[in-house]
Amino acid sequence: MPTRTYLSRYFGDQGLLKRALPGFAARPQQQTVAAAVDAALAAGSGVALIEAGTGVGKTLAYLIPALQRAKPSCRIVVSTHTLALQAQLAEKDVPLVQSVWKSPVEAAVVKGRGNYLCLQDMDAARSDLWTVGDPEFARIAAWSRTSERGDVAELDFTYPGWADIRANPDTCKKQECRFFDRCFYYRMRREAQEASLLLVNHALFFSDLAVRRSGEPDAKLLPDYDFVVFDEAHHLETAAAAAFGVAFSSSRLPVLMDKLRRVARQLDMNMDRLKAIEAQSQSLFDPLLRGGRAEFFVADIMRGEESLQSARFQTAAVSLLLDGVALELLKQDAGGHPALKDRIDGLRRQCVRAKEELTLAFGGDDSNFVRWGSLGRAGRRGPMATVHWTPISVAPILQAALWKEPRSVGAALVSATLSTDGGFGYIRKRLGIPDADSRVTETVVGSPFDYAKRCLLYVPRHLPVPSDDPGYAYDSANEMLALLEASRGGAFLLFTSYRALNAAYEHLTQSDLPYPLLRQGEMPNARLVQIFKEEENAVLLGTQSFWEGVDVPGANLRLVIIDRLPFAVPDSPLHKARVDEITQSGGDWFGDFALPQAQLRLKQGFGRLIRTSQDRGVVAILDTRLVRKAYGERFLRFLPPARRVFDIAEVEAFFREEE
Ligand code: SF4
Repeated sequence: MPTRTYLSRYFGDQGLLKRALPGFAARPQQQTVAAAVDAALAAGSGVALIEAGTGVGKTLAYLIPALQRAKPSCRIVVSTHTLALQAQLAEKDVPLVQSVWKSPVEAAVVKGRGNYLCLQDMDAARSDLWTVGDPEFARIAAWSRTSERGDVAELDFTYPGWADIRANPDTCKKQECRFFDRCFYYRMRREAQEASLLLVNHALFFSDLAVRRSGEPDAKLLPDYDFVVFDEAHHLETAAAAAFGVAFSSSRLPVLMDKLRRVARQLDMNMDRLKAIEAQSQSLFDPLLRGGRAEFFVADIMRGEESLQSARFQTAAVSLLLDGVALELLKQDAGGHPALKDRIDGLRRQCVRAKEELTLAFGGDDSNFVRWGSLGRAGRRGPMATVHWTPISVAPILQAALWKEPRSVGAALVSATLSTDGGFGYIRKRLGIPDADSRVTETVVGSPFDYAKRCLLYVPRHLPVPSDDPGYAYDSANEMLALLEASRGGAFLLFTSYRALNAAYEHLTQSDLPYPLLRQGEMPNARLVQIFKEEENAVLLGTQSFWEGVDVPGANLRLVIIDRLPFAVPDSPLHKARVDEITQSGGDWFGDFALPQAQLRLKQGFGRLIRTSQDRGVVAILDTRLVRKAYGERFLRFLPPARRVFDIAEVEAFFREEE
């Protein structure tokens, strides 16, 4: 069917969606997005870069062409950043399109291996002493007997030992497994093989790409595909960097040694070697654990290259010990017990993988990679340090894997925040999408919402430029108070740091603000949002995770306050490494990198406010660099077209109009 005909059959004023969805309004922006995706699909290996503002209905706009064009000879992957959006596509959007169209297309949800229960490891765990009488294990065991898909997302409780019973490549026996016919993971893979439309997430998509890069025959996690639609495409760089890098934590070897000890009781093994590995691991990570900073360059903490060199010697010593354990495991006699044999084989492969990744994390040598560390917590094990070996730029990797000519796979990259300065130069550069490629198209469609009428952008011109001065924090918190009084709560306060969040929280709690205050970290984010939706006047203070992906339609969210322009934290090692790389290659790190990155984040924060055509409210950006610095206009020009005001009296009048 010609593109225009079938697209208007769906999206037109009297189209199928209008008939199927109460309240559906035909939007030219939606048809433009659908046409751009369809053109890339029709071109086979075209690449469409698409920014679609809030309310365009981009999910259906790409899903309908995808379902129209998918067939056994043309498999299409739809990749999302979050599991939540993947679930929404699988449970709501795909069934909707299939029912409207009576589509014969087979769709399958594909998740990473670790999301599925391993029946072999579950069987082994049942016979383990440590599970006897454990009520949490009894609960997961009961679920394992009735579960349809063995997907961890089915659980309505958290099982702390999931890592021991989930499918993983080291313990998996594949076709030789006694449970292969019933295996949840392989059943999903068979379904994926049959399907023409695959729903995946970015982490899995790039892990598959990383596995394929090894060049080994049949090395892949997904069946071959012809086209990929990336939703939430502004996350691609982060997702790709994680998949092509390595992260090795201080708890990795102690956890592995615990597992080995559990099995070693039944075997003839050198327990001193396990102890030695633990001791070496501890001395390797101790300086990092004592470092005290959330993120750091490993070489800085280890005080220079000399010490890093000694860490490499230690790594070599651990590697030798791990080789020894692997060899010992190879020689073990399982006494004819297939379950024990499976565990021994799995543990041996885990030792080999741990050695490879440890060596890469501490000893990898590639000028496009940076070695950095982070501090966190590992549940009951307490503080945890992780060494990351991350690509500084994923552009050359993706160029080789996805965009090079002749290209075998086409793509559509879709997001509400993808363009900067009105173009796609930044994202193309970060992802390595060639400039001179006539089959790459760019489409920007704005939101259909009436921002000019329904939204104000307030910048308090009287405030000084942000600084760490306590006086500034006081003035800015007072501005927040005045705004909250005008809106009578119903606000998201978005911060660029916990320090600023906590300072504002202290100030607001000491005032007589009569509205419920919700602070990130007090409870899970989802619960905070749920309470916010239930309360008419709540005030929620959040950092990074509230800048995007949080959807509060309706009047309960009528004010969004942004404390500062969201430039990346300058101390972040990955950010620093990227800045250095751009500077060394003669680029403008601020104009070409830091600024566009902040532009995208600001658009995301702004986008929290207006979620439906009926929403109305104020976005207040308290950072006066917007009006005092030359680059401020580069932010303002590409925000939704709200009316700009600089006097709080106009904000008060705007909120009074509602009453
Ligand atoms: S095939 Fe692999 S993942 Fe499946 S049950 Fe067996 S060992 Fe576990």
